[in-house]
Amino acid sequence: MSTVTPAYEQLAATWTRLHNLEHLQSIAGWDHAANMPPKGNEARAAALAEMAALLHRMRTDPAVGTELQRAEQEPLDELQRANLREMQRQWQASTALPEALVQQQQIAASRCEHAWRRQRPANDWAGFVENLKPVLALARQEAALLAEKTGVRKYDALMQRFEPGMSCTRLDGLFGDVRQWLPGLIQQVLARQAQQPVRQPVGPFPQDKQRALCEQVVRLLGFDFEAGRLDVSTHPFCGGVPEDVRLTTRFRDDEFLTSLMGTIHETGHGRYEQNLPRALLGQPVAQARSMALHESQSLSFEMQLGSHPGFVARLAPLVTAAFGDQPAFAPQNLHRLITRVKPGFIRHPALRDRTPADRRRDRARRRAGAVGCQDDGAAGRGHTRQLHGRAPAGRALALGPVRLLPLLFARGDVCRAVVCHHAPRHARPGRSHRRGRPGPGLRLAESEHLEPGQPLDHPRAGATGQW
Ligand SMILES: [Zn+2]
Repeated sequence: MSTVTPAYEQLAATWTRLHNLEHLQSIAGWDHAANMPPKGNEARAAALAEMAALLHRMRTDPAVGTELQRAEQEPLDELQRANLREMQRQWQASTALPEALVQQQQIAASRCEHAWRRQRPANDWAGFVENLKPVLALARQEAALLAEKTGVRKYDALMQRFEPGMSCTRLDGLFGDVRQWLPGLIQQVLARQAQQPVRQPVGPFPQDKQRALCEQVVRLLGFDFEAGRLDVSTHPFCGGVPEDVRLTTRFRDDEFLTSLMGTIHETGHGRYEQNLPRALLGQPVAQARSMALHESQSLSFEMQLGSHPGFVARLAPLVTAAFGDQPAFAPQNLHRLITRVKPGFIRHPALRDRTPADRRRDRARRRAGAVGCQDDGAAGRGHTRQLHGRAPAGRALALGPVRLLPLLFARGDVCRAVVCHHAPRHARPGRSHRRGRPGPGLRLAESEHLEPGQPLDHPRAGATGQW
């Protein structure tokens, strides 16, 4: 059969073959994590490395490069062109790496992960670090090769494997913004939750009952058990392929909510995979492209849907049926348990919380006449902080390293300011502060940097005659 897009169709056939082999690779990976007896590890690591090498050879075949060039000249529609772009992206990343490195990485990762399952409960960091070292060294090699090929920084090159187009610069902006408002919000939530009594569930919670409850909830959330499974692994994950999604969870006898909420999280990943466009499965354009988008699906299941009072009311009778009636399983109490905030080393800690020592220091400084600051209570929007206090005329506020000061105003020697951190670029100064209205006063340029006690050497400072 003749066609006007022979190169494209050849490529599409290659990617369908890759998809079929990746299917087996993925199920073998799931089995490695969920089923395999410990002595199978070395052989499985070798088998997975062989498979990774085979797939790598297929992806980097010079014939694929020629077809990619030919397909560029073919009359493709919009979808085919998007598919071709994704193929080229994968080609570029794959051809940057030698096959030996791909194999070594697979073996090092399998060994490290497998040993970690015993080292984790034993808190054996010294043992773990020995296995982690080669994983890290190989990742550095990969980063250097990818960076050389793509012309971006090493870390950016690694990140773009999971999040095409993402860069450290962009992430610094995003997390810089979050860092301004999240610690304050956590403190507000902790203070409020401290006023709300909560009853703890009384265990033990038999694992077979937990498992049945998790399956019930996963089904309730629309996961298709005809096209997937729920099993147990050391760390929960969502694997498999869109046609056969493998969710995993883990259980503890003394506590059931971590497992239940973790399962709801993985269900979000699974539902996303199960709903990828079927007609194009196997083609890069139909694969999950962004880790952030994938994680948004799991977190919306866990944090928005799973933590909603309406859903918790639906959950409460299922929990009672599983473990017997307890006051802790009343819907309101269950909701409090699920939404309880407790800063820890996972998720929260990437963003530094304010410590009690930070708060004591602020109070002392305010008493001494320095300027304090607090979030404006609209931390969810995350852009503004109110500053308050007293400052002598001609002296700057004790603002610290604030980079953006669109608004600053004063009345008498009592100064107030609204500091807008990382305002969106399109926001005009004076409009980016949405709560309250700015008073008269002076406006500082963006990126102006004030240090405590620094004279306010600003052209308009004299005009206001304050500070
Ligand atoms: Zn996740």
